Amino acid sequence: MLTCIGYGTTGADHPFAPLSLQRRETGAEDVRIHILYCGVCHSDIHTARNEWRSTIYPCVPGHEIIGRVVEVGSAVTRFKVGDHVGVGCMVDSCRQCSSCQQGLEQYCENGFVDTYNGQDKHGRGVTYGGYSQNIVVDQAFVLHIPKTLDLAATAPLLCAGITTWSPLRRWKVGAGMRVGIVGLGGLGHMGVKLAYALGAEVVLFTTSANKKADAKRLGAHEVVLSTNAQAMAKEQGRFDFILDTVSAQHDINTYLGLLKRDATLVQVGAPGEPLPVAAFSLIFKRRNFAGSLIGGIAETQEMLDFCGQHGITADIEMIRMEDIESAYDRILRSDVKYRFVIDMKTMPTALS
Ligand code: NAP
Ligand code: ZN
Ligand code: ZN
Repeated sequence: MLTCIGYGTTGADHPFAPLSLQRRETGAEDVRIHILYCGVCHSDIHTARNEWRSTIYPCVPGHEIIGRVVEVGSAVTRFKVGDHVGVGCMVDSCRQCSSCQQGLEQYCENGFVDTYNGQDKHGRGVTYGGYSQNIVVDQAFVLHIPKTLDLAATAPLLCAGITTWSPLRRWKVGAGMRVGIVGLGGLGHMGVKLAYALGAEVVLFTTSANKKADAKRLGAHEVVLSTNAQAMAKEQGRFDFILDTVSAQHDINTYLGLLKRDATLVQVGAPGEPLPVAAFSLIFKRRNFAGSLIGGIAETQEMLDFCGQHGITADIEMIRMEDIESAYDRILRSDVKYRFVIDMKTMPTALS
């Protein structure tokens, strides 16, 4: 085992602080990664604060990881020392069930292993994420980063990018489709960029009037202020597909009402409490309400390669490690443009 410093919390309302972690030795299939940047996902907040009631403490979040390979195991063929690589929300799965066989590791029937707050499948304990100096990951769960992309701005693609890309692809979003994205945060702004790049007509629904101009710059053809009932009424029944990225309680029925006949609203935002759905929102027009969880490893590579070809990265604001809690507070106030990324050079190198 090798000691590494992470930045985590020991309880839902405890402050973040540096703490000591053990990382395993680099096994035959493993890649040891020196972490350069880590994006800050709203799921980090849900987990650190135990809003999903499943957190194991101490908790070291972070699943939008970009780093440099510093060591490879004897059987590693896909990476070499010095490569820039990414790690997203998963670090392992059973690799044998039908979901894994189909490249849908996120739906592994035996449970995938979360990058943080997960249970290792080989008895090596709880997983700790990217708010840390380094991480050791099986090569099967490590991604290649296109050389043309800015490394820091690529970090958010590892969760916000793939979580929006996967449903956009699954529901075949493209030219000729009118697509709604709900919420302009980390996921939402990637949803706007990717849906635009796939050729769809994109409409952004936001509660923040001050994000209108940005939404257009990012690729939205129209922006609707969801607090304006009249503007919402005009959009009834006009959408082929809607992606809802909202992290908190909101009325989902308002958005289901915007769908055309047979169209689908995919929920990716994950509030801790249930979202009540009125039966009639679905019955009229035979609408669909679906969910989607991150994306598989091959699909994540496909998304990264697409972003490399189209020059797509996240709009980021870089923060220092010690500013993580003020970043969380700003995310909760919808004051993030549009993803915070931690510069790991600011990670403490010793426990104070
Ligand atoms: P984020 O940056 O905080 O963005 C969420 C956006 O939702 C906000 O910027 C805001 O946009 C809108 N919003 C917030 N509170 C709202 C409210 N009360 N009513 C209406 N709109 C509100 O969060 P994120 O990192 O994009 O994550 C979004 C959600 O997706 C989180 O719940 C996260 O856990 C979840 N998630 C799910 C998956 C998955 O696999 N399904 C993966 C990653 C994350 P406006 O200001 O534009 O209204
Ligand atoms: Zn995430
Ligand atoms: Zn599996």
